[in-house]
Amino acid sequence: MTVATLYVVATPIGNLSDLSPRALEVLRTVAAICAEDTRRTGQLLAHFGIQQPLVALHEHNEEALAQRIVARLQAGESMAVVSDAGTPLVSDPGFRLVRAARAAGIKVSPVPGACALIAALSVAGLPSDRFTFEGFLPAKASARRERLQALAAEVRTMVFYESSHRIDESLADMVQAFGAERPAVLARELTKLFETVLDGDLAGLLAKVQADENQRKGEFVVMVQGAADDEQAQLAYGRRVYARLSEHLPPSTAAKLAAELTGAPRKALYGA
Ligand code: SAM
Repeated sequence: MTVATLYVVATPIGNLSDLSPRALEVLRTVAAICAEDTRRTGQLLAHFGIQQPLVALHEHNEEALAQRIVARLQAGESMAVVSDAGTPLVSDPGFRLVRAARAAGIKVSPVPGACALIAALSVAGLPSDRFTFEGFLPAKASARRERLQALAAEVRTMVFYESSHRIDESLADMVQAFGAERPAVLARELTKLFETVLDGDLAGLLAKVQADENQRKGEFVVMVQGAADDEQAQLAYGRRVYARLSEHLPPSTAAKLAAELTGAPRKALYGA
């Protein structure tokens, strides 16, 4: 039996020249290409004169379709999976298909290329030896704030994806959760005509985005430096918990509870 491969192929996040020669070769030779949006991928392929058949594979049909694709792979047909832009599986479909293929013992091979997360981190100038990718924040304000609050003591650089609809709200919530002075970088429209990389502190970035409508357009990666060190993170978190509790409780009770909940020293919180 022919040995088939499932290729996970990265596509450009803006500049079409970022599609690698190897990606082109693979896309030209596979039996079919699984694509999140066949119309969009069709346009990309047409640009490069590629006419391979497309199979729609998105969030809603991936689970059901995965076994059918695995059957084709088992029958000896190599396939590729792409998403609308960048690397599949990174805030994009593909995970269920890859899992099913691996479970069936099929070779899954990456064809690496553009990824907004890595592209943004590579130009941010924030500590990047260790970082945490948080993807998209929840759309609902309360869930978003809760998620950010849970990250208040994170010491690694945090990377978020964001769309134009919510960039200002998310930055405002980050100011609340991490503090106005936390260093951050906003990467917008990378590899495209209006590529912009803004740096500063969170309050400064929010002010720039609020002041200029153009800075709210396009696709964004928001990167926030982690809390300075464990102790400082704990203290900062303790102070925020204290501030919220003291809206409803006497200061001494709020400080006692905040210290218990966060591990921050009570004396450093009281009157903070
Ligand atoms: N799989 C993709 C990747 O490898 O980066 C990400 C797909 S996710 C659905 C789309 C999000 O990625 C956008 O909302 C934005 O946060 C980020 N993104 C994609 N392209 C970008 C670009 N050119 N500049 C900045 N951010 C981008």
